[in-house]
Amino acid sequence: MNMPSLPHPMPPPKKKSRVMILATGGTIAGTAPANHPNGYVPGKLPMDAMINAIPGIHDLTDIQWRQVAGIGSQDMTFSLMAHLANQIGALFESDTADGVVVPHGTDTVEETAYFLNLVVKSSKPVVLTGAMRPFFTLSSDGPRNLFSAVAVAADAKAVDRGVLVVMNDQIHGARSVQKCHTLDVAAFTSRTCGLMGAICGDCLAGNAIRYFRRPFRKHTHQSEFSVSPDLLFPRVDILYACADMPGDLIDGAVERGARGIVIAGVGNGNMNDHTIRRAAAAVQKGVAVVRSSHVGAGCVLRNVEIDDDAMGFVVANDLPPSKARILLMLALMKNHRPDQIQALFDTY
Ligand code: GLU
Repeated sequence: MNMPSLPHPMPPPKKKSRVMILATGGTIAGTAPANHPNGYVPGKLPMDAMINAIPGIHDLTDIQWRQVAGIGSQDMTFSLMAHLANQIGALFESDTADGVVVPHGTDTVEETAYFLNLVVKSSKPVVLTGAMRPFFTLSSDGPRNLFSAVAVAADAKAVDRGVLVVMNDQIHGARSVQKCHTLDVAAFTSRTCGLMGAICGDCLAGNAIRYFRRPFRKHTHQSEFSVSPDLLFPRVDILYACADMPGDLIDGAVERGARGIVIAGVGNGNMNDHTIRRAAAAVQKGVAVVRSSHVGAGCVLRNVEIDDDAMGFVVANDLPPSKARILLMLALMKNHRPDQIQALFDTY
């Protein structure tokens, strides 16, 4: 007997998105072995133990995971960041994942996030997360942060917002996020540019992930930078300015082979007169000098107290020293003239 056709056929079921977790370690995977003398060892818990302990996470999306490293992020290297970038690129190119989550130590998560933001060639979501308290300790922020990061990576509205960092129900842009507390679970801020978004309530109930803005600068698929794991990055040193800074720190960096120097300046990227003179001499030798600030918020402006045009200095705008170092390393692989490097700092 022929079945009558339905007047309003049901649409095909919506394809579930696929999220790949590329674990690198950090406090989120921290554990305290018996008789361990210190608080805990970062990066030791396997991903499956963590995933299995988070109720409802499989209802968010299809999840797979790989262990890329098991380190505290103080040991992160540019070669490992480049390896991560290449793995993420391969996952997206082969259409194996719709989003990627990278659990990471919180100490340098903002650096890896910004690096990936400059070199991953895709608009698909890449979300870094971590925790301030080890996963299986009282009131750990780890389970919720991992759950929220997977929810954001699976969210179509996260596409084309650059690399993101999800911590403590907040969604930060890779360029703006900064660690601002050594212990608090509210350890991250996007003080100068504002949050990219926030998790408001239960991700499984829908409409919980809210976005407030898009990136202000070029990122990911719009970026001209790319890397391979065997790439040799030029040496860039950061020098911390303070009262009575010895100017010969600049000479020491140049003698040790630095091709770029970032000044973690006082105030508006400032440094004392000896240091300015040594830095201008370094520029004459072909070393790039970028003025950033260790204040933690706000922009460094050109030609205010320092004549950047005359000295050949570059300003980092609102990039903190560690991110200015990453951009300068990538920039030096393309350009050397201060005006060309300044143009890259004004674009990324
Ligand atoms: N230093 C460790 C790391 O960055 C612990 C900090 C953390 O993950 O919160 O991996």
